[in-house]
Amino acid sequence: MMEGPAKKIGLYLHIPFCKRKCPYCDFFSVCAGEERFDEYTDALCRSIGYYSEKYGRTADTLYFGGGTPSLIGEQRLGMICREARKYFGLENAEITLEVNPEKKNIGFEDLLKSGFNRLSIGLQSSDDNELRLLGRLHDSKDADRCVRQAQNAGFENISLDLMIATPSQTGESLLRSIDFCASHGVKHISAYLLKIEKSTHYYKIKDSLLLPDEDRQAEMYLFAVEKLSEYGYRQYEISNFSLPGYESRHNLKYWHDEEYLGFGPAAHSFIDGRRFYFERSFEDFFDNKTTDDGEGGDEEEFIMLGLRLAEGITKESYQKRFGRDMPDELIKKAAALSKGGYTLVDDEGIRLTKKGFLMSNAVIAHIIS
Ligand code: SF4
Repeated sequence: MMEGPAKKIGLYLHIPFCKRKCPYCDFFSVCAGEERFDEYTDALCRSIGYYSEKYGRTADTLYFGGGTPSLIGEQRLGMICREARKYFGLENAEITLEVNPEKKNIGFEDLLKSGFNRLSIGLQSSDDNELRLLGRLHDSKDADRCVRQAQNAGFENISLDLMIATPSQTGESLLRSIDFCASHGVKHISAYLLKIEKSTHYYKIKDSLLLPDEDRQAEMYLFAVEKLSEYGYRQYEISNFSLPGYESRHNLKYWHDEEYLGFGPAAHSFIDGRRFYFERSFEDFFDNKTTDDGEGGDEEEFIMLGLRLAEGITKESYQKRFGRDMPDELIKKAAALSKGGYTLVDDEGIRLTKKGFLMSNAVIAHIIS
């Protein structure tokens, strides 16, 4: 990596609590009460101070993910936010909070006062039957109320999460969910294909779930991409779409292979050329015990992450990052895949097509092999 002035980093704060575990979810999250929330808030604040001292960096994005961060309440969130600001500056920062719509009366005004300026709301679907099958605690009315309350309070930058290829979902119901997002005027949509992970309840009952096969999943994904584009949401990453200027600054740091610190069980960090993470354990986090994950930021990683973006990897970004031209061999490998319609290679650089996005793991593996 080329030397230069230290860039501002991103901060990720994992809030590992949920009201109830969704049957398809393999994120690290547990059900807990007020006492645990307090204990965890204190641990996060300590950790923020410790890593600030250790790395002496400033940050310009802060992302509260989970779990259900909104569950711990505006007061604790405000306290953590203040601590992060005290130690990492956060000047003109994007500060995002993940919110689930089931919680009524979220104090959006208080959140704004604490400095939050972006919300990521877990809609998943606007179809009540699909939400029930996903084990979610909200229905479409809750989601509608949540988005409107946030907007009325003054949140302008709102993202909604959508899931594609869930049990019983049809093209029509997916379109209704996309319509829900567009009609609420949200600026950003994350649309993920449901993946059945081994550790989940869904995995145990997968044969009874009536899930669409791979071809149908692909059709539904491409359908969503097309409809979102008709509504003006530009696809800037495999699963992320936004109106112009509303791309997630925090998540772009991951895909640009930039530095960040992650706090909490299962949170990952990449800083000063090294990757490390906290295991999925409260005890390890409370004891500040991390696991080293080796060096980060090499060429392979840069390509792997960059190709997830619609802009792909440009010759300019490659030169800027490594101080040399993009290798011919890399360009040739990517060009070979353009015949099958998976990549686009031109004077700018290399990027994946929509068809390439669908097979991104295999396409990227081939390019970096
Ligand atoms: S609310 Fe989100 S993090 Fe919590 S269990 Fe459900 S999917 Fe997982």
